[in-house]
Amino acid sequence: MTVVSMGIPAVRPLASPHVESVEGRPDVPELVDSFGRVARDLRVSITEKCSLRCTYCMPEGGLPAIPADRLLSAEEIVRLVGIAVDRLGVREVRFTGGEPLMRADLETIVSGCTQRVPGIPLAMTSNAVGLEHRADALARAGLGRVNVSLDSVNREHFARLTRRDRLPSVLAGIRAAAQSGLAPIKINAVLMAETLDGAADLLEWCLGEGVALRFIEEMPLDADHAWRRDAMVSAGRLLEVLGRRFDLREVGRADPSAPAEEWAVNGGPATVGIIGSVTRSFCSDCDRTRLTAEGTVRSCLFSDRETDLRAAMRAGAGDEELAGLWRGAMWNKWAGHGIDAAGFTPPERSMGAIGG
Ligand code: SAM
Ligand code: SF4
Repeated sequence: MTVVSMGIPAVRPLASPHVESVEGRPDVPELVDSFGRVARDLRVSITEKCSLRCTYCMPEGGLPAIPADRLLSAEEIVRLVGIAVDRLGVREVRFTGGEPLMRADLETIVSGCTQRVPGIPLAMTSNAVGLEHRADALARAGLGRVNVSLDSVNREHFARLTRRDRLPSVLAGIRAAAQSGLAPIKINAVLMAETLDGAADLLEWCLGEGVALRFIEEMPLDADHAWRRDAMVSAGRLLEVLGRRFDLREVGRADPSAPAEEWAVNGGPATVGIIGSVTRSFCSDCDRTRLTAEGTVRSCLFSDRETDLRAAMRAGAGDEELAGLWRGAMWNKWAGHGIDAAGFTPPERSMGAIGG
């Protein structure tokens, strides 16, 4: 079976596929890699489409559309999630994109997974645009939690960063999610120079709403390739800015594979998280495996090597064969993203085309 492709651009057809080597891999069912990590956290991208155009992620005109016949169907997603849980030891599933709410059959995908893998936590990462109209149905379908991207509570700053004036819809979506019991809600904010001055206001807002906030260092995953190491806002710089309004005490990570380092705010119990993806990288504890919307396994955000499960599935591969291909993809996972290494080049897919 031909199934892996190297260096795939956003939505070009897969080129010269081949199978990853599993030489040296122990004969265990889980998604182990050659550095001793085990992937139990599955991120499933379900679309490349999005209602926003965040500058650190999407190009202004959006990503090229994935042709309908290359996108995983709801049934295919449910089948792969079932394989991941039953055969590969995955213990948590998160839907992402693009923007998951752009798929009209999101509720079908969620309820299909709820029935297929009962007891496995299902979560979603979303920009929350339009969530106010779907939060109840998603909760009924079995979605447990939602992480919402929100970089600023200043409407003008929000519109500039996302290239869309949708802050009121996002705030309504967050409140609807809370009312529907999609809790705990976590807010993700990417650290950008344009919104740094409003970081303390954003934290204030989150404390008032009772939602957790995590700041994320910007990674070189923007479609415009504008990221520069010397221009990015570091975790250290954020702490300086927040420290002017809040008393912050480091409390560490909730668990070793949690990417966020937590800081108690004004003596606690509220905390703020900081994900230092670049300056305080956590690759050695990474427990993620990713499925793109086109059905390829990606072992690392930064590796362009992908194993094409969709092609294998549509060519008639059985569940155990698909599980074997997935294991091979993860066995070959890199040690880390290598952003600081000489000669680093960003991956061909941007964040929105991988699924963050
Ligand atoms: N549209 C959804 C959203 O924005 O939450 C889900 C997809 S988005 C690609 C997933 C996460 O990736 C978001 O939290 C977003 O902030 C983050 N992200 C996107 N581009 C990033 C970048 N260049 N560096 C760090 N995080 C990024
Ligand atoms: Fe869309 Fe999410 Fe990317 Fe923003 S971060 S452009 S909301 S996919």
